[in-house]
Amino acid sequence: MTDTATLYIVPTPIGNLDDISARAIRVLSEVSWIAAEDTRHSARLLQHFSIGTKTLSLHEHNEDKRTAMLCERLKGGESVALISDAGTPLISDPGFVLVRKCREQGIPVSALPGPCAAITALSASGLPTDKFIFEGFLPVKVHARESVLSALIDRTFTTVYYEAPRRILDTVTDIQRVLGDRQIVVAKELSKTFETYVSGSAQDVINYLNADSAHQKGEFVVMIGPAKVSDQAIPSEAMSLLSALCEHMPLKKAAAVVAGHYDLKKNALYQAGLDAKS
Ligand code: SAM
Repeated sequence: MTDTATLYIVPTPIGNLDDISARAIRVLSEVSWIAAEDTRHSARLLQHFSIGTKTLSLHEHNEDKRTAMLCERLKGGESVALISDAGTPLISDPGFVLVRKCREQGIPVSALPGPCAAITALSASGLPTDKFIFEGFLPVKVHARESVLSALIDRTFTTVYYEAPRRILDTVTDIQRVLGDRQIVVAKELSKTFETYVSGSAQDVINYLNADSAHQKGEFVVMIGPAKVSDQAIPSEAMSLLSALCEHMPLKKAAAVVAGHYDLKKNALYQAGLDAKS
């Protein structure tokens, strides 16, 4: 901890209390205030680690009001730790308004590394991790959900979503309808007794979810793998650029340049270039 009053972003366990860090316990014990998404929920965690720091609530319905109050306390020399119900605050959880205001007002903000369901799930999924996007929760309305999923048809990297148990079957069914046999991985109950990864096509995951009512209970991270090269439609602008470049350089080089520019596979562009010539 520094001498200057600081807002600390403190991740908490997503299922296994042993995943709290020694530094998280120290910071939570030493700050003047803990701002918690749900003070009653966090009381159990704080009690478990014998942390007696005063708490106050900060959730989506009072974040503006609390932000003003906490900034005043921070400016008055009191450090504050922000926690959510589980995992990393601000990641599909409250805290953005507070952090942005602290930054605007020159109040130091320091984040501790720690549990996050998205990163935990992704790292063991077996899906490509060199490039991925986290999109939080999918929209609830079917139409909006399908439209968001349509954007993944040509996507060449992994997409990560959070999903609630009551919607998991509908979501995977929509993935099946929009993306067909794309590889997906569903991670369930991470770091808990019944931690499970189900990997395969959306249909495989639907079969798993329907096999036992317990399979639809718990907390889920849904990860969708990249489109296969052969599934990728090459945008017309990319083809225009490819044919223009081919007038000045060999196809192989042109394919590499266009692939880099549009984030496409070099081989797919090379093949498309050959097809266009024939
Ligand atoms: N801030 C949290 C984090 O860093 O992971 C996420 C909060 S978000 C409101 C809650 C969602 O995270 C759940 O609906 C679920 O999709 C995912 N999640 C949280 N804990 C999980 C776990 N143990 N296993 C699988 N998914 C989990």
